[in-house]
Formats: sequence, C-alpha cells, structure tokens
Amino acid sequence: MPSWFFGLQFRLVLGFTLALVLALGSISWYVGVAAQREADRFQRQMAESRAARIEQIVERYYSARRGWTDLQPAIEQAGALYGWRIVVTDREGRVLGDSHLQFGRPWRQARQGGQLFPVLSEGSQVGSLAIAPSDAPEIAPEPPLSRLVSAVNRSLLWTGLAAGATGILLVSLMARRVLAPVRLLGSAARSLGQGDLARRVQAPGRDEVGELARTFNTMADSLQKAERQRRNLVADVAHELRTPLSNIQGYLEAVKDGLLQPDSATIDTVYQQVLQLAHLVEDLRLLALAEAGALRLNREPDSMVEVLRKTAEAMRPRAEAKGVTIALDVPPDFPLVEMDRRRIAQVVGNLLENAVLHTPEAGQVTITAEVAGPSATVTVADTGEGIPPDLLPHVFERFFRVDPSRSRATGGVGLGLTIARQLVEAHGGTIRAESTPGKGSRFVFELPLSAPGSTHEHRG
Ligand code: ADP
Repeated sequence: MPSWFFGLQFRLVLGFTLALVLALGSISWYVGVAAQREADRFQRQMAESRAARIEQIVERYYSARRGWTDLQPAIEQAGALYGWRIVVTDREGRVLGDSHLQFGRPWRQARQGGQLFPVLSEGSQVGSLAIAPSDAPEIAPEPPLSRLVSAVNRSLLWTGLAAGATGILLVSLMARRVLAPVRLLGSAARSLGQGDLARRVQAPGRDEVGELARTFNTMADSLQKAERQRRNLVADVAHELRTPLSNIQGYLEAVKDGLLQPDSATIDTVYQQVLQLAHLVEDLRLLALAEAGALRLNREPDSMVEVLRKTAEAMRPRAEAKGVTIALDVPPDFPLVEMDRRRIAQVVGNLLENAVLHTPEAGQVTITAEVAGPSATVTVADTGEGIPPDLLPHVFERFFRVDPSRSRATGGVGLGLTIARQLVEAHGGTIRAESTPGKGSRFVFELPLSAPGSTHEHRG
C-alpha cells in the first residue's frame, strides 16, 4: 500500500467524499421519488378533470341535438384539442365518433388502457364515452410529466456533482492547511529523536494542534534541561573524583621518586583520600538509587527520639572539641514514626554535621522534635554563620556549596543535603532550610507519623 493511503489527509478527504456521496445520493433519491409522486398525482388529477370536461361536452352535445348526428367532426376536434383519443359508442357498443378514425388503430384494439364513462341524458344512459392516450403521432400526444421529473433529476445530478467536486477540493485544501503543522511537528519530533534537542515548532493556533505544538515545545524544553543536567552531572562527578585521585597520584609519585617516605603517616594520608573517594562513590550510588526511585527502605514504626539522641551523642565529641554545645529538646512521649531508622539517622547526622561545621566556637546547635498535625517535625537549628538568602534556594542541589574552597577542605562535595532531601522525600516527607546570615540556620524536615496511638513507650 502506498504511504499516502495511510495519511490523515487522504483519510479525511475519503471520509468527506463518502459522507458527501451519501448525503447527495439520498437527497437526490428522495427528491426524485417525491417529484415523481407529485407528477403522478398531478397527471392523475389532470386526467380526471379532462375526462369530466369531455364528458360534459359530449352530454351537452347529445342534449342539444337529441341524438348523435354529425358527432364525428366534433369528436375529432375535441381529440385534436386535448391530444387524447376520444371515442363515443352507442349502448350496443357501436362506434359513433372516434377522434382517431383516420390515424389510429381500430378502436377495438386500442381501447385497452382507456377509461369508460356512461353518457347520460335525463337520467338514462344514451351511450358510452372512452378516453385513452393518443396512439397516433398525427395527433401530438400530451407530453408526459415524467419528462419534467427526469429533467429535475438531471439538474440535481449535475448540481450534486459540481457541489461535490467543490466540496472535495475545499476539504483537501483545508486538510492540507490543518495538517501542515502536524507534519512540521512530525519532522521536529524526528529531529528531537535524532538528538537535536534545540528543535522547536511554532505554535500560533489556539486549537488542538496549537496545543499539541506547545506541549511538544514544553517536552523539548524538559528534555533539553534534563540533558544539560546530565552533562553537568557527569562533569561535576568527574571534577569531584579528580581531586582525591590526583592527591593519591601525587603522593604515590612522590614516594616512587623517593621524595616522600612510605611511612605510616604517608599511608594514612593516602588512605584518607581513598576513604573520601569511597565515600563520594557511595553517596553517588545512593543518590542515583534514590533518584531512580529504586531505594529500598525498611520502614517500620520507630522511635525518632532514640534516633535523635544517638546521633547527637555521636556528634557531641566533635562539637565539644569546637566549643559548640548540642541541645536536644524532644518530648519523651513523642510518637513513633514510620521510617527506615538507618536512613533517617543519616539525614539527622548530615544536618547535625553541617550545623556543627558552620557554627563557630561558643555557638549552639538545637535539635527539636514536634508533632504538627499528621507529621513529625524535626528541626536542627544553629547559631552559625547562616546562608546568604540568594544561595538558600540552592542548598539542596547536587554539588552545591556556599563556599566551594572551604567545603572542599572539609571533604564536603555538596551532596549531603541532596541525599538528605532524597531520603526524606522517599519517606513521603519534606525538608526545607531557613537562615539569617550571621545569626544561624534552621533545617526542618517533616515525616508522616505512623498509625495514631502508637508512642515510643509502646516499644518497651
Ligand atoms: P556538603 O557535603 O558540602 O556539606 P551539603 O549538601 O551538606 O554539602 O550542603 C551544601 C552547602 O550548604 C554547604 O556547602 C554549606 O555551605 C551550606 N550549608 C549546609 N548546612 C549549613 C548550615 N547549617 N549553616 C550554613 N551553611 C550550611
């Protein structure tokens, strides 16, 4: 089958043509039938009134003369006038006058198809009158009305054909015009599929096709953005991997060249770099899993209080070494939260680590837990340096660091908060950051609570 056969334009025109043929066909059939019916009715009425008139004439003729004398010329005249064969017979059936006497077939043969009327005079029958269609060309027969009907049918056919052809032409032009943007869209989609993500289409119309074009452009925008993000991600990952790798390379080369002793201090330094590298790779793996929605969570009702207390304890030595205090403000009957304990501990640990890191000596980090409606809200607030308002919206983005040089020195690559957000969202929760530069920051995350009524006391 040729490809145009499957094209929308061909199908539209075909559909329209079929509809048109059907409509015109049924209209002309109906008009034809109705015209024929009317013509038949009219012709019947005409014949009836003509017969009545001829009958009247014949009866008057008989009454005026009291007999049938010289009937023949009068009958011939009437026959010529009406274009019908008129025959008058007496009561015994003998022909007294015949309009076609000279031309037609003998009356006996021609009488079939004629109408017979009695001729009455003063109440008694004096003869019979027969009227039949003219059977001789010399007396021009009346033109049948069916000719009018066929003329009507013919003009209907021609008008229908002309209207149909114009309609088909208009529809194919319209289909072409309507489908032009669809074709453009098709070619744009092909280019997009072949990797030209910058390709867009014009979407001027407010109709469905215009809407489709706009949707296409939005989709292309998202694809382009995703592609850009993917490229940036690869570049960022390569960049972050390069730092510890080139450090390791530098140390090993120095050892190889005899510039550095392969003693335990050197090995320890290299080992730290390897740990950092492994940590980075693990973070990336976790992030990839979470973003793909493939992170498996072992969620069960668990004690948030315990998680917060343990994480704070683990962080306390580092905080104290810096002169930062960690305060825990959690109600003891805090309800259980449906969560993967290890992952939420990772989130809290990350927030706490950031808070301690960005809080100067004599500062304070406060962990608060509250129940707010159907969720548990945990806040990690510090009295640290804070985050500039213009950078605040970016802190949860991958590889984002407020001060790249400083964070690199501490080993942070800007993945901690991204992972924290992914983990919280995987739990059906939300996380946000608030900050006043110079005064401190607050990181707040909310998790849905487990079934009401279960508190951490129930765990025994
Ligand atoms: P990193 O692993 O580098 O710490 P994060 O994703 O945890 O990355 O944090 C991103 C950036 O947000 C950090 O580089 C830091 O500058 C900023 N930040 C995070 N927490 C705080 C905080 N409590 N106070 C000030 N700045 C913070």
